[in-house]
Amino acid sequence: MKTPKEEKTWTLKYLPKLHRVTGKWHNAAQGRTNPTSVEIEQGQIHRRLVRTARTEAMCHEALLNKMKKEGNAWLEKDDFLWHHLLQSFATMGSSSGWDGLIGNTENYVKITYNALDALNPKARETQVREVCLKAKIRWPNKKAEHILDCHTRVKGMGGPLATKNILLNMPGRDAKIAFLKSFPGIGKKYARNIMMDAYHDDFRNSIAVDARIKKVSEAYGLKFSSYEEHEAFYLSVAAAAGLTGWELDRLLYNFQDQFLAEASEKELIRRHEIAGKLHIQYEQILWDGPYDPEGKWITAMCFPIDKLPSESDLQAAERQVLNNKKYFAKCPLCGYFGPAVGRFVDLVGKTICHGCAEEEGCVF
Ligand SMILES: [Zn+2]
Repeated sequence: MKTPKEEKTWTLKYLPKLHRVTGKWHNAAQGRTNPTSVEIEQGQIHRRLVRTARTEAMCHEALLNKMKKEGNAWLEKDDFLWHHLLQSFATMGSSSGWDGLIGNTENYVKITYNALDALNPKARETQVREVCLKAKIRWPNKKAEHILDCHTRVKGMGGPLATKNILLNMPGRDAKIAFLKSFPGIGKKYARNIMMDAYHDDFRNSIAVDARIKKVSEAYGLKFSSYEEHEAFYLSVAAAAGLTGWELDRLLYNFQDQFLAEASEKELIRRHEIAGKLHIQYEQILWDGPYDPEGKWITAMCFPIDKLPSESDLQAAERQVLNNKKYFAKCPLCGYFGPAVGRFVDLVGKTICHGCAEEEGCVF
């Protein structure tokens, strides 16, 4: 099995330059003596993710603890596996399916294991198909078949409790993943997710790489050649942040916006209309006390609305503002790109960001 400490090679599309490079993130993240410039860039992304993860973990410690407790409570229930199979089918392809199949009690009670088991095969099939359609889940016919197949399998193993016990008695993470993947419709991601929802011991260092996590990777320009490589990258971020994979996974899932905001530079500038003119503005941060930053928008360029340049010229103008060192700076240590006024400080002959300055022992 791969571990997060192993060295990996992965392809990276680094924003905003948009060139593709290949390198090793592990060495850069560990601060080897002579990293290449590519490794520095990759290490910078790593460092930014680590910092966001740490901040989010501090802000949401109570929520994480609640999720751990609730997850563990599910493991005690006889229908743990059955319920989570249904939940996987409900959300596959669109997370909104949860409301119709699981959240809607009228539908849910018709597809519990016991409700289905009480019916003859013909009536069972009709009921599952009807509920899947009514619940407005994605791919209702395919999923109805999955649910019927799962019923047959679970019955063959002696019912929901017996099947749950077979799963829980499988030795280690990989055997449990393999067992879950033997159910129709369950792949790598859902196999992990089912056990992670339960906060199972074997899955505290797992990442369920789903659409949200992929979106974060994309925003940072990260590319991976396999599921395992993608998972290993985030496990190494988690380790560096002092978190388990489970904790980082739940933070990425629930607070995706924070991770995305960190990755984006777009909102550093805005287009704003004032009195018939389109202003391209940048933000300056003013500090009203140590924890109270206040953004102030300042015009860098403006164009009359009735004689606007083309969209591509506007974008070129925005790029010019972003590249102006009077307005924006890039931290040489972590790669953070932000307003030059209010987010940077001169320390040991370098202009570094507040986050790095705090790590170097600076107190604001
Ligand atoms: Zn920095």
